[in-house]
Amino acid sequence: MARPDRPGQPPRAKKSLGQNFLIDPNAQRRIVDALDPTLADEVMEIGPGQGALTRHLAERAGRLVLVELDDELARRLQAEFAGNDRVRIIHRDVLQVPLEEVTDDPARLKVIGNIPYNITTPILFRLLERRPRPREIVLMVQKEVADRILAEPGNKTYGALAVGVRAVADAERVMNVGRKSFRPVPDVESSVIRIVPHDPPRVAQQDERSLRHLTRAAFGQRRKQFQRILRDAYGLSVEQVTALGAELGMDLQSRPESFAPDRFVDLARALRERSALPPEMSAGDVDE
Ligand code: SAM
Repeated sequence: MARPDRPGQPPRAKKSLGQNFLIDPNAQRRIVDALDPTLADEVMEIGPGQGALTRHLAERAGRLVLVELDDELARRLQAEFAGNDRVRIIHRDVLQVPLEEVTDDPARLKVIGNIPYNITTPILFRLLERRPRPREIVLMVQKEVADRILAEPGNKTYGALAVGVRAVADAERVMNVGRKSFRPVPDVESSVIRIVPHDPPRVAQQDERSLRHLTRAAFGQRRKQFQRILRDAYGLSVEQVTALGAELGMDLQSRPESFAPDRFVDLARALRERSALPPEMSAGDVDE
């Protein structure tokens, strides 16, 4: 059973909500500096918690939208920012809040958060999978997840996450943050990453779904050669795969993990142009 909070004290951290509060003032400031919000910017903070980043953001951003799921923390934030009409609090699960509810212009939105690590992938995919994508995203994530996002082709950690993010955005590590910068102290190391979606997008709108399916098929069976995956998952013949490889200048006898995100984009486009679909997709799914 949850222990009751002590009056006048900060509420106890809830593990189920990934609550590890950032107590290092230097790290707090550097993360906000990485986003560099100005009075012309609208910013969404995911999981503001006890306000470690929020207070810096509130001083610098033109508009600030805080999305916090925890009842007690949302109540405290409401109380703290009640007199500030540039700050709005949405007391909900961020995974249930469409960007269109946060702002009239999602493509201009800047997003920041020391996020609950257990929902990092769904948060990333919600922000990046569909258009319009935010203008810029700065997130604290588990270091191992940052490594996977930033991995180079051929590296054993390179996979669906790297391709999913870097086919549509540039990504870089801002800094690593040690465990002692948080309370309670987490079990894992952390990194701050900056993700800037390509503007204009490099993946044509009609190829985006094809790219998602290709990535899923490719890394679902990463030990197989790409040509085998294309034959099994897309029902292509040996001749069709050979022609595809020649057209794109790709050696499809290699494994998917050896190809850069841009090559996945090229392959997804070529597959879409041939109306090649994995069995779970119908023709109507291709063009959104
Ligand atoms: N930003 C604060 C900081 O840096 O100290 C808190 C970070 S803590 C790692 C994650 C925050 O996300 C917590 O405040 C938690 O309550 C909140 N949270 C957890 N799940 C959430 C969800 N699905 N939607 C919105 N907020 C969530």
